[in-house]
Amino acid sequence: MKQIPQLFLLLILLIAISSGAPGRDGNTKRFNSAPRLAQFDDPYSDFRNAHYSNAGLLSERDEIKLGTQLHREVTKKYDLTDAGLDRVDRLGQRCARASLRPGLIYKFHVIQGRQINGFSIPGGHVYVTTALVQLANDNELGAVLCHEVGHIVARHSLKTLKKSKEYDDIANSLGEITGVAGSIAHDLGVTLGQMLGAGMLTIHSRDEEREADFLGVREMPGAGLDPQGMITMFQKLQRIEERESDLLGSLFSDHPDAQERIDNTRYEIARMRKGR
Ligand SMILES: [Zn+2]
Repeated sequence: MKQIPQLFLLLILLIAISSGAPGRDGNTKRFNSAPRLAQFDDPYSDFRNAHYSNAGLLSERDEIKLGTQLHREVTKKYDLTDAGLDRVDRLGQRCARASLRPGLIYKFHVIQGRQINGFSIPGGHVYVTTALVQLANDNELGAVLCHEVGHIVARHSLKTLKKSKEYDDIANSLGEITGVAGSIAHDLGVTLGQMLGAGMLTIHSRDEEREADFLGVREMPGAGLDPQGMITMFQKLQRIEERESDLLGSLFSDHPDAQERIDNTRYEIARMRKGR
């Protein structure tokens, strides 16, 4: 009988120690246990307080030069068309203005192709295929464009470039380029063409896709778009994935799977409705 109060005391002592012990971030567990649970449920907790800039990466000026060079390589690889371009540009510019990087000049392009795809490169160039333009209504197309603008806001391709072995050469060449002609531009073009061909600057990690989804869905209301369009877009892609997955380009074929993206988008829309 004597042991029970002792055990009870020991238990109280253990609870007191554990609740008063500093957590990993120096706060007590008692204070951060609730937010930690919330963060576990929040697929976008890593991105909520992010600030974006070119610090530590190419300067914006060089980023724009890089974009010009890369765009030349894109035009060699793909057929650009005016079909649907007005609509894409109108929706895309709305995403750009509502984004966290509204000062950059964005250029939207349509690529002729039966694959459903979209991608972006540094410096504000965004591409979607005619197949995607035809498949999507305005809110859905806007969702893809806002997602692509999100990659540009978060400088994902610039971060990838920074880690590449070609980075120093490219950065030096960009510093020396004054126009688009000349041997430096030619050599740079060859390098960039190879990188583009390998998908180095246009295929992103799972986390980067998640971040672009987050930035994209957050841009949509400000762009006058219904964020539900992101969900119905993913649903359309999900159906195509089941039937004719060869029609899906890199934007949709890899990482995170459509159902996860739908769930995350639903979560975020609910959160936005609560004004958070
Ligand atoms: Zn993406």
